[in-house]
Amino acid sequence: MSEWKPATRRKLLAIRDRLRKAYGRPALRPHLAPVDELILTVLSQNTNDRNRDVAYARLRERFSSWDEVRDADEDEVEEAIRPGGISRVKAGRIQKILRAIGDDDLSRLGEEPLDQARAELCELPGVGRKTAACVLLFSFGRADVPVDTHVYRVGTRLGLFRPKASFDEAHDEMLRLVADDPEEAYEVHVGLIRHGRRTCTARDPRCGECPLLSLCPYGKARRRSGEI
Ligand code: SF4
Repeated sequence: MSEWKPATRRKLLAIRDRLRKAYGRPALRPHLAPVDELILTVLSQNTNDRNRDVAYARLRERFSSWDEVRDADEDEVEEAIRPGGISRVKAGRIQKILRAIGDDDLSRLGEEPLDQARAELCELPGVGRKTAACVLLFSFGRADVPVDTHVYRVGTRLGLFRPKASFDEAHDEMLRLVADDPEEAYEVHVGLIRHGRRTCTARDPRCGECPLLSLCPYGKARRRSGEI
């Protein structure tokens, strides 16, 4: 493959438009309170949405408030969230976050400059760029793009990110490419995830039937080599 050059916004919009045609246009509906979203995102690490949701529902059933979760025995929290996997790590992480935020409901992050809100979230224990972006986008409807494994893999193959870029670098690249528009940020995020799940899978990307093939250096290299 030729040397990587940063992608243009035009290319991002072409990708977005083709994904929209293939999968429809998702609607952004900010929903959970910021602390709820933050804990839900911690629970989503290394598991699927269904197990995450079961773990979250059990946690909310077992404890009547985040204060109770914070002050509970760690074993009790761990037991409640066990269906979400790596529950010992997640229980500790959740309690550390809740201790760090104290009585703060984080609602002020909706009013702060975006960079500042992101930096404050990333200062919380175990919170990285993806988790911060989930809270900013899904809870506040602010323009940030969570780069999960699907977004990272598909984005790298499409040439949106430098090969072997760190996840932080991929987040920076996404912010450079996406307009300050939450709807656009959400659509790009969801479109790339859908594509990663249905077509551009980790082990067996179906490049031959991919609507993005003409925009994709990875797919075009496979075609040139006769792989597809
Ligand atoms: S052409 Fe292949 S590698 Fe590129 S986005 Fe499509 S499925 Fe993924």
